[in-house]
Amino acid sequence: MDILKERILCDGSGIGTDVVKVDGFLNHMIDVRLMDLIGKEFASRFADVKVDKILTVEASGIAVACFAAKYFNCVPVVFAKKTAPNTMIEDAYCAEAKSFTKGSISMVRVAKKYICEGENILIIDDFLAHGQAGSALAQIVRMGGAEVAGFGAVIEKKFQGGGDKMREDGIRVESLAIIEKIEDGKIYFSNN
Ligand code: 5GP
Repeated sequence: MDILKERILCDGSGIGTDVVKVDGFLNHMIDVRLMDLIGKEFASRFADVKVDKILTVEASGIAVACFAAKYFNCVPVVFAKKTAPNTMIEDAYCAEAKSFTKGSISMVRVAKKYICEGENILIIDDFLAHGQAGSALAQIVRMGGAEVAGFGAVIEKKFQGGGDKMREDGIRVESLAIIEKIEDGKIYFSNN
């Protein structure tokens, strides 16, 4: 998605060799117009797939998932929680994910009633790095007897291997911008 790649190069920056900072349009301030185009792009890439629901993880995945949902006939968006608030009293499906940005292991959870047997659930997130968050969400979908319709990432960092891991797990992955490497603060995209 050229407009996204241009925006990453223009407003984003590489930190060290493995972190991308895109706070100006995705992770802190949100560019609603770009987000809408991102949602539309996911809908066109997964146009051949039946999607009953979208699953993401808080916080940055929520906006992306909501804009995508708009183009999937406004299907419901469920977001996994990273902590268990005292309002979450119902049974939940839980899976472990090592946080790339924080370095700690966290448990992501979704109330059982929001994953229904037989549903086709599309997973959406802002980044795909080592695939920890995506794999945890896929586990939760399967725990509920639902099918993973695919995984959509706004930005995939190919060199961290999460995308390949998920593809090997049989999940169709669509990433709108694929980063090959970060060198001296400069971001290089993969050709595919
Ligand atoms: P993974 O679980 O695939 O290793 O990492 C994906 C999660 O970590 C995403 O939910 C995202 O929030 C965060 N993440 C991974 N890499 C980056 C990055 O380079 N920049 C930012 N802002 N977040 C990242």
